[in-house]
Amino acid sequence: MSLSKKELETLKRQIEARRAALQAEVHADAEKARGESYGELSGGVADEGDESVADLLADIDNAELSRDLTELRALEAALERMADGSYGSCAGCGLDIDLQRLKVEPAALRCIACQRVHEKTFAQPDRPRL
Ligand SMILES: [Zn+2]
Repeated sequence: MSLSKKELETLKRQIEARRAALQAEVHADAEKARGESYGELSGGVADEGDESVADLLADIDNAELSRDLTELRALEAALERMADGSYGSCAGCGLDIDLQRLKVEPAALRCIACQRVHEKTFAQPDRPRL
């Protein structure tokens, strides 16, 4: 990885800020979606559980929400890669991802060339793989 400590710090802050914004958005959307679906069935009495957002989403088909969650997972994964030192290396070819690309898309997993190939191969956006 050829990123300087300062570059990494900047990208990390960028990711964390984006993650915080997305988390707030996802929670608000999930609450709203849950309120709508539960509200109709139970007359507005939604139980105040502590289910995770993922649980809430199990029954909710909400394209925007699932897009936000996909991005959220990508950001989490990027932070994990920062922690284990693999951040900035392309998951496809192993070469360094261009800094300009990371600045625009800090959660990028692949270099531009590999990303193009990936998108061609997989018409669908990344599905979570557990
Ligand atoms: Zn690559």
